[in-house]
Amino acid sequence: MEHLDAIVIGMGPGGEVVADRLLTEGWRPAVVERELIGGECSYWACIPTKVLLRPTEARREATDAAGVTRPDMDWPALRDYRDQMIRHLDDTKQVETYRERGARVLRGTARVVGRDPWRVAVGDTEVTADHVIVATGSAPVRPPVEGLDTLDPELVWTNREATSLTEIPPRALVIGGSAVGIELGGFLAGMGTRVTIVQRGSRLLDREDPRLCEIITSRFEANGVDVRAGTEVRSVRRDGDGVTATLSDGAEVHTDVVVLASGRRPRGDELGLAELGVELDRGAVPVDEYGRVAPGLWAVGDVTARSMFTHVAKYQARVVADGLLGSPRVADYTAVPRVVFADPEIAAVGLTEEQAREAGIDVTTSEIDLTEALARPWTYATDPVGHLGLVADRAHGVLVGAWGYGPMAAEWIHTAALAVRMGLPVQALRDSIPQFPTFNEGYLMALDALDL
Ligand SMILES: Cc1cc2nc3c(=O)[nH]c(=O)nc-3n(C[C@H](O)[C@H](O)[C@H](O)COP(=O)(O)OP(=O)(O)OC[C@H]3O[C@@H](n4cnc5c(N)ncnc54)[C@H](O)[C@@H]3O)c2cc1C
Repeated sequence: MEHLDAIVIGMGPGGEVVADRLLTEGWRPAVVERELIGGECSYWACIPTKVLLRPTEARREATDAAGVTRPDMDWPALRDYRDQMIRHLDDTKQVETYRERGARVLRGTARVVGRDPWRVAVGDTEVTADHVIVATGSAPVRPPVEGLDTLDPELVWTNREATSLTEIPPRALVIGGSAVGIELGGFLAGMGTRVTIVQRGSRLLDREDPRLCEIITSRFEANGVDVRAGTEVRSVRRDGDGVTATLSDGAEVHTDVVVLASGRRPRGDELGLAELGVELDRGAVPVDEYGRVAPGLWAVGDVTARSMFTHVAKYQARVVADGLLGSPRVADYTAVPRVVFADPEIAAVGLTEEQAREAGIDVTTSEIDLTEALARPWTYATDPVGHLGLVADRAHGVLVGAWGYGPMAAEWIHTAALAVRMGLPVQALRDSIPQFPTFNEGYLMALDALDL
């Protein structure tokens, strides 16, 4: 049985970053993947959604820019580009590259079958290693909706079917109004589907600042999306070629597909870890601040249930790789950007006002309408939108959170992310020089509006 330096289980973004660092440093790892190297993110999540969302955004931007006529949408061309960007669901090149770099690539489902040393089985093959890194990601949650399991599979979409669609459905019912529901619902609505989003909470994205939720909900409604908040889908039944859903408020929604976007469950309980004494928490593999689970056992990414984003998976992977390579450091999650690629983009970082108050912080907040404060929105579009909100700690004179809504908010939220992470004094931020005319200039006005 071959003994390796490390075994990486799951080759999504988290696993790939660990494996890449170890190979660069001359280690000999085994990498195990049961589907495709690149993981959910590359084939059925981040990449296809962002590819699919961009043309409808670009068309709307072109419509809003002065002097441009509305461009046409070419669905077959978009579909072809999506297929190219998801590598036609083929990872042959990735497998070859890892092999050439010295990794042992094992295809199949891994189970951890022994410890001291860690022993992993993939089909009939067993290997041992000093270290095992679990990076097995998460799976979509199936909500407890009566009748869901009786519907034909082609009528019930997870992110996989939604991102690999070949035809645009006339009607879609999206269950869940957080990031995934907003992105998938927003894309379909942009392509002409009649979309209904059912959200149990009182607003879309209800874990974010209420103002942000309010803004995004009204934008979606203005774009013709039927947002049903504060209600749930109780049951679904086949109805002709489509589906009829009954909501908890008694309303009925007729649809062609049901899109599940009601959360994801970490995939830690399929590996046999519990049998080896590792306590799991509803599928999550609990890690300490170094990403360690037990001596020689580490975990990164969605499977740890810490902010399920690719950038977090990659950050944890860098922390774990540093630990493996002898420079341990502690993971810090105070400034994880949370972006929803709606049109325009929604971004937040750090604490909401409510979270800051719950943490006992002496809070002051500000919000500015970027279209009233800045030139950039008006050079960008003839009918612009844009908001920036800040949450600050009055006692320490630092930002603890921020949220933004507007073109490229995913980019300009990083000013706040850096400030929150480093605890930059508001005074120092006020003394910075943002480029004119940019959305980033909004920070100066929003900082001035804080009661500090
Ligand atoms: C629709 C959608 C859009 C998203 N968009 C974004 C975005 O824009 N930005 C962002 O930051 N995040 C986004 N996310 C979240 C992002 O996809 C995840 O956070 C990210 O994929 C997590 O990476 P990971 O490495 O932990 O796991 P994954 O990408 O899930 O990879 C895990 C891998 O492990 C493999 N595996 C599992 N079990 C085993 C086993 N026992 N043996 C062998 N292999 C196994 C799987 O096949 C998979 O390839 C999105 C999610 C969805 C659903």
